[in-house]
Amino acid sequence: MEKINDLRKLLKHELNDLYSAETQMIEALPDMIEAATNKELKRSLSDHLKVTQGQKTRLDKVRTILNDGKSVQKEEKGFFANLFSSEEGEEHCKAMEGLIKEANTLLEEDMTPEVMDAAIIAAAQKAEHYEISSYGTAKAYAMQLGLTEVAQLLNTTLDEEYAADDSLTVLAVGKVNLDAGADKKIPVRQPLKASPAPVVKKPMAKKVAESKSKTGTRTSSSVKTKKTTK
Ligand code: FE
Ligand code: ZN
Ligand code: FE
Ligand code: FE
Repeated sequence: MEKINDLRKLLKHELNDLYSAETQMIEALPDMIEAATNKELKRSLSDHLKVTQGQKTRLDKVRTILNDGKSVQKEEKGFFANLFSSEEGEEHCKAMEGLIKEANTLLEEDMTPEVMDAAIIAAAQKAEHYEISSYGTAKAYAMQLGLTEVAQLLNTTLDEEYAADDSLTVLAVGKVNLDAGADKKIPVRQPLKASPAPVVKKPMAKKVAESKSKTGTRTSSSVKTKKTTK
């Protein structure tokens, strides 16, 4: 295999891994759709299967751009490779393989249909989070390499993965988890916050902070939390 000695090659490697991940998802989703009972869940997963097929096609486009217009598919599949290789391409994503294996193990458990739906959502979200992480990284590489078109295409997929994840959260929290036995009276939409640290009033502390801010030293209240963006 070719030596990976710069970020562009690392990006290509990541995209090949993602191509495998998407291919594996396309194979795995039908079983999850079949095992689901809730109609909205079935529809949500079916919608994402179609979206995933589009993502695979988009990845082909991205890989072709990075390969100076030559199709990666044709190149990596010589005569013998064509005989033996799967749809996946030159990388095999072991992380997605593991997530899918775990999901399939869940599908074999003895569960009531309502609880199974909650478990299916959790398994699907684990896969979405892996994809969000990988596409986020790939997009950042593309941006830093000045590959604007590639970054835009990856961002389209990233948005789709976020949307799939969000819709599963809404479905879980608003319906499926309740059917599975969650307490309807406990509100969960507000994010859980750590209880605020007790405020210790020290008259001296204020004066020190004031004198420090005059000399330009930032006080803790003026330090804004950095927002992480992908
Ligand atoms: Fe995907
Ligand atoms: Zn590798
Ligand atoms: Fe992977
Ligand atoms: Fe996805």
